[in-house]
Amino acid sequence: MKILLHTCCGPCLLYPIKQLESKGYEVTGYFFNPNIHPFKEFKRRLDSLSRLAERENLSLVTERDYDLDLYFDKVVANKQSRCSICYDIRLQQTAEYAAHHGFPAFSTTLLYSRYQQHDLIEKKCRELAKTYAIAFIYEDFRQGWQEGIDESIDKGLYRQPYCGCLYSEQERYDNRLKKKLRKKQKNQ
Ligand code: SF4
Repeated sequence: MKILLHTCCGPCLLYPIKQLESKGYEVTGYFFNPNIHPFKEFKRRLDSLSRLAERENLSLVTERDYDLDLYFDKVVANKQSRCSICYDIRLQQTAEYAAHHGFPAFSTTLLYSRYQQHDLIEKKCRELAKTYAIAFIYEDFRQGWQEGIDESIDKGLYRQPYCGCLYSEQERYDNRLKKKLRKKQKNQ
């Protein structure tokens, strides 16, 4: 069965593609991530993934237009729900692309990350599968977390230090913000 695999970056693709191929799926990666900021970082992740696909002969569709407004128009007024909205933007587009381009199934490499809201992603994908009348192939790819990391290091892939958006970049590097967030969590 053909499957469209939403792909956030090269390192997160390695384990899921191996798993899906071992089960007989014919995988096409789908890079659609307007949540990656700034543009140079978006380009770096996209280029690294494209080089990997070329080297290893992987089927890959890339949405190269960088639609900043799509992300910020939806997120700015709802920052507390930013990850949920971010999943909606990327997964909805993936399911729609799959349905319109002859893919009977879809999935996402977001299910590989230990840092994402796994259950929420699964729920959203199941709903989208119903909406677009295609199959959602669920697997807990987190089981291969370390295997994927080791392989990405062996292959010399670019490994990003933060999730993607400007908010996550600030949370990664701004020590004053980190302190504030820790304090807020303690008081909750
Ligand atoms: S932290 Fe990651 S998942 Fe959440 S909004 Fe930012 S890029 Fe999207």
